[in-house]
Amino acid sequence: MHLAQGLANPCRHCLELIEEGDNKLILSYMPFDSKQAYAETGPIFLHQKQCHRYNSDKLPDWFAFLDPAIIRGYDDNDWMIYETGAVTPGSELEKECVKIFHNKDVKYIHIRSKFNCFQCKVEMA
Ligand SMILES: [Zn+2]
Repeated sequence: MHLAQGLANPCRHCLELIEEGDNKLILSYMPFDSKQAYAETGPIFLHQKQCHRYNSDKLPDWFAFLDPAIIRGYDDNDWMIYETGAVTPGSELEKECVKIFHNKDVKYIHIRSKFNCFQCKVEMA
């Protein structure tokens, strides 16, 4: 358990920012169901206290401050689709998601920070 310092402590479960001084967990996380060549593992933060899972048709407002973000699409086999990969300002993420979903091979999208911290999975509604 660690104390959150500064403003950049997003909780990977509720996608809210962990307030400075609150307890946070720092974990290694692989956001895939099974290990395979493209199943990356990276650091994430979580609230230590219970919080509610984020579920919305919009990205959280603070994603606009990801500068930059890493985004890419994955297929049915959880393999990344190379041509969908991009490094983009956080303010462009929703537009970039729409563009990536035009590729019919894309099943879902992952958004990561520039430090390769998994932020969220985006699925077509
Ligand atoms: Zn949380």
